Amino acid sequence: MRIVNPADGSEVAEVDADSSDTIVEKYAAARQAQPAWASRPVSERVDVLRRFRAMVVYRAEDLAPLLTCETGKPVAQARSELDAVVERIDFFLDSVESVTADDVVLDDPSGGLREVIVHEPLGVVANISAWNYPYFVGTNVFVPALLCGNAVMYKPSELASLTGQAIAEMLWNVGVPEDLFALVIGAGQAGAALVDQPVDGLFFTGSYTTGLRIAEALAPRLTPVGLELGGKDPVYVTDDVDVAAAAESLADGAFYNAGQSCCSVERIYVHESVHDQFVDAFVTTVKGFVVGDPTEDATYVGPVARQPQLAVLEAQVDDAVAKGATVLTGGHRGQAGLAGHGGHGESAARGYWFEPTVVVDVTHEMALMRDESFGPIIGIQRVNDDAEALALMNDTDYGLTAGVFCRDEGRARALLAQVDSGTAYWNCCDRVSPRLPWSGRNHSGIGSTLSTTGIEVFCRPKAFHLRSPS
Ligand code: NAD
Repeated sequence: MRIVNPADGSEVAEVDADSSDTIVEKYAAARQAQPAWASRPVSERVDVLRRFRAMVVYRAEDLAPLLTCETGKPVAQARSELDAVVERIDFFLDSVESVTADDVVLDDPSGGLREVIVHEPLGVVANISAWNYPYFVGTNVFVPALLCGNAVMYKPSELASLTGQAIAEMLWNVGVPEDLFALVIGAGQAGAALVDQPVDGLFFTGSYTTGLRIAEALAPRLTPVGLELGGKDPVYVTDDVDVAAAAESLADGAFYNAGQSCCSVERIYVHESVHDQFVDAFVTTVKGFVVGDPTEDATYVGPVARQPQLAVLEAQVDDAVAKGATVLTGGHRGQAGLAGHGGHGESAARGYWFEPTVVVDVTHEMALMRDESFGPIIGIQRVNDDAEALALMNDTDYGLTAGVFCRDEGRARALLAQVDSGTAYWNCCDRVSPRLPWSGRNHSGIGSTLSTTGIEVFCRPKAFHLRSPS
């Protein structure tokens, strides 16, 4: 399988993809390795994963450019992901023992009866991952899964295969048995072959389309499934905000990682009384972003990771313009590195570049406001009041995150309580915390990772009724 650098289209490496046969073999080996791992005290598994954490810290300076060369993520943002993933790993290391300890829910010495909940691992779990934050979305699954005593079959996205290999090598080097953490390399076909294995749980991060296919395949087997899917995350800017601060924060939320975060701000609604002022400040911020070579420390927006996404972005702009929208900046494929910020045309042939794009005068008739963009593009819509904003925020198939920018927490909480999303933000956006459950509703997925819920999900409860002999 060819690994291509999205910044210039060059080949970075070739890797061997797994076949259905090697996946079957790896499954059998993982199944055999799991009981011994599960029988080790949880404190030993914590020690092993603590060494993995240390290895990530130690190797961060090599791992960041590796991630950049295969996904196009600006290297400063790759470093930030590696820094922040440590906090997630720490949360799991610190929490797993208490979350998985036996719960004595009844202890009645007079009747000689105890009731105890024991948390057993699921067994062999599959982790099919996305490329946009491979450290985040990977560790959300394989770290707690391993800590709870499971074997893991980990398939990184084909667009983050080198990072996936590095993750597996680090785990093996710190003492996770190779059979227990099986690395599966490949694209959709390898993913489908993995889904065919009789795993005890499948945890997927990716698009709604693939997630649905996986859920359908697993349904007859009643295999537990966790799906973290796409979003069309809305934010409402009310009439009483600090406009400049809101614009700056939301431009970052929309364009960080070239808009390729599951919780990127995907659509903005602005109260008509501050709309024009907000749009001016927003466009000024976007025009100030450093677009270019993702290996440069100063770069803020790099290429997109996938070539086919360029056509999606182009089609969203064309559809919006045809229906009356106005493009205030950007709007084209463009290769910033060669042609300068804003360049497009022939030079766009090398690498997967799209100009940071701001579109106004938009409506929900336009694909830009309905379909996930997953790129450096945003639509801003004028609204008259809170009720209109709320109706528009809920006018979506997705339900990952939603935000409100305003001074009054009560007003924000009242609005956010009525939005059908797994996460709600007041005066912030594009933020994930290891202490809070990460869950999508509707087409954004089922189940949740992170928080103590995201540990429990890798166990199944066994109910013990224990009566002492009289
Ligand atoms: P994708 O669905 O194309 O691929 C995801 C993974 O599924 C890859 O590893 C891929 O190889 C595999 N795959 C593809 N076809 C398969 C099949 N038939 N059976 C099994 N596996 C298969 O998604 P993507 O482009 O990698 O990721 C982008 C999407 O992920 C966006 O929609 C984004 O919003 C979403 N995402 C969501 C979250 C979240 O937490 N909710 C986080 C990151 C990304």
